[in-house]
Amino acid sequence: MNNTRIRILLVDDDEDDYVIARELFSEISTWKPELDWVKTYDAAMEMIRTRQHDVYLFDYRLGLGEHTGLELLRETITTGCKAPIIILTGQGDYRVDMEAIRKGASDYLIKGQINSSLLEKSIRHAIERKRAEEAIRSAKNYSEYLVACSLDMIVAANLGLEITEFNPSAEKMFGYCKSEVLGKSIRMLFADAMESKQVTEKILKEKIFSGEINKRKKSGEIFPSFLSASILKDINDKEIGIVGILRDITERNRLIDQLRYNAFHDPLTNLPNRNLFMERLERLLEHAKRNRNSAFSVLFLDLDRFKVVNDSLGHLSGDKLLILIAQKLRECLRRSDTVARFGGDEFAILLDNVDDHFNAKFVAERILETLKDPFVLDGHKIVVSASIGIVIKGELYNRPEDILRDADTVMYRAKMLGKARYAIFNIEMHAHAMNFLQLETDLRHAIERSELVIYYQPIVSLATSEIVAVESLVRWQHPQRGLILPDEFIPLAEETREIDKVGYWVIQEACAQNKAWHDMGFSNITVTVNISLLQFQRKELPEQIGTIIKNTGLSADAFELEITESTVMESKGLVLEIFKELNKMKIHLMMDDFGIGFSSINSLKHLPFSTLKIDRSLISDIDTNPDASAIVKSIIDMAHTLKIKVIAEGVETPGQLELLRSYNCDYAQGYLFYCPMKAEEITSLLRQSKKYPSEKKSNITREFSPS
Ligand code: C2E
Ligand code: CA
Ligand code: CA
Repeated sequence: MNNTRIRILLVDDDEDDYVIARELFSEISTWKPELDWVKTYDAAMEMIRTRQHDVYLFDYRLGLGEHTGLELLRETITTGCKAPIIILTGQGDYRVDMEAIRKGASDYLIKGQINSSLLEKSIRHAIERKRAEEAIRSAKNYSEYLVACSLDMIVAANLGLEITEFNPSAEKMFGYCKSEVLGKSIRMLFADAMESKQVTEKILKEKIFSGEINKRKKSGEIFPSFLSASILKDINDKEIGIVGILRDITERNRLIDQLRYNAFHDPLTNLPNRNLFMERLERLLEHAKRNRNSAFSVLFLDLDRFKVVNDSLGHLSGDKLLILIAQKLRECLRRSDTVARFGGDEFAILLDNVDDHFNAKFVAERILETLKDPFVLDGHKIVVSASIGIVIKGELYNRPEDILRDADTVMYRAKMLGKARYAIFNIEMHAHAMNFLQLETDLRHAIERSELVIYYQPIVSLATSEIVAVESLVRWQHPQRGLILPDEFIPLAEETREIDKVGYWVIQEACAQNKAWHDMGFSNITVTVNISLLQFQRKELPEQIGTIIKNTGLSADAFELEITESTVMESKGLVLEIFKELNKMKIHLMMDDFGIGFSSINSLKHLPFSTLKIDRSLISDIDTNPDASAIVKSIIDMAHTLKIKVIAEGVETPGQLELLRSYNCDYAQGYLFYCPMKAEEITSLLRQSKKYPSEKKSNITREFSPS
């Protein structure tokens, strides 16, 4: 402060006092005092208005009939003067000191007790204090400005929770004027009374709070806000209230909702997507575990031939169609049910509380029925159908994925059974059914995973005991279940139409294997392949066989098809055409499993069979049952008159063999001779028998020439 000039105005009616003051000031060395002096109130006011002074010293007594120094003090402050004022009192001016301070004086000094150092200190402190006050005031102005201009709502309250501050943003959002809410409880701004209690208690207790709170406007409308609140303290660190900053998060929540919606819905149809479906399914499943009575079903729906529609009408129309279908599906359901689009033309439906068989079936039927009405799209009438798989008792499962897997599997089954229908999966029905369906799924991949193998069972000539043919018997080397016999999976393959692939593979493999044996020098071996009814009913079968034979280089007469009697009976008209085709290609045909059921010797007359195989159920009886042996004998005789060779299947005992020999049966097959075995074993078998070559070329097929 050393060189600082400080201008002081002394207002005192007594010149002696002025002189004393001047003396005292002259002793001050820490700063440079410049003292002015006026005697009267009016002269003082005139000077004060010019604002030239840094400090005022007012004598309390300003002479007879004059105002007091305190009155001058009041008026000085009223003019807006910010400079510190020090009151000088006499020794007897009781209580003036306190009053002076209350009215805004910075200090008071008692005349007669003043020395220069006291005066210096008093003035210096007064100036410093004033500066500090100014700083605080401007800071206060600044924070008030911030509060007023803040885009966030700012609300403060005292410890009694009465509102003390309510900024313009708060006014705008809540719809209250500041004056309406000042002094009222802050709780009026909360949407929920419980929440208001909890939150305010928390702020008071923990001194700080932040979180999402619903607020209520004057209109009653509720809006979500983010509140950060804390305790307010005064300079002495005493708690005086709470202040909260609020931000309206309606828009933010809307955006979040939108994002969430997008994550859980299919954008094309607006239906729930797989995620949402799985979530609901999981919730239902959990609920079902706690609640015995809850039940639900899941339908998995796949449109039939949708790809054709899509390809022929274009993707845009395909999309429109999906939207229409989504609408129709919705209309078939109750509000509480969920229909979701899994992408493509797949939909899944969740039926809550379906307690009996009827409901899920009923919904499926209604959907299929509704879909029968054609859709009109860009002037075209389009009919779509769907295949639906149903899991009736979803609540019996442990995992949502398993329910969907089974619904998907039975949907596939519905497709295989001819589309536009539903099929039901019910885990209660059977663990076996689960097995079956799992097997069905596995079977779809068996070929590509090279799990199928062919065993070959030799057929021997009864005249020479030589192996003349081998029957191909397919097996499935399942990675978990081991070797599965055809009786277990061929019916499955037939039901799912996998039989086409399986059958084609067997023919291909058997022909290639036989060609290999021929190349090794066993050129009189015929390979036979069993053909199922469904395979046989395919018009393209002869062509397929032709291609395989050509590609493998096997001669057509070293290959023979085994067709069961029942297949022949059930194929009726078609069979003749196929037989003609096969005949043209010189493919030989064997009637398999002869003698069970149909006994249609008649068909043998009309169809170009070269061989017939008597079923093992008849053969197994011949040495014990005279009827059976008589039948077998007559079959052999009759076949011979038709120039058809006979194979006895399932020969297990020497007695059976003896009888068959006596009946002039041509060939035999059975455990008495050989079991079905792998190709390598057949190869070594053939190698052994070659050591005793027979000149008589015997071939079950070559002896017969189709007419
Ligand atoms: P199948 O045509 O009657 O075939 C003969 C079945 O009897 C074979 O069973 C064979 O292992 C068995 N067998 C052979 N000798 C004896 C014997 O002395 N005693 C007894 N008890 N059984 C004997 P496998 O291999 O289990 O085949 C069962 C059926 O599966 C076959 O009956 C055939 O209809 C079908 N199958 C086999 N492979 C194929 C194939 O590639 N395609 C089609 N469509 N069906 C096939
Ligand atoms: Ca057979
Ligand atoms: Ca048989």
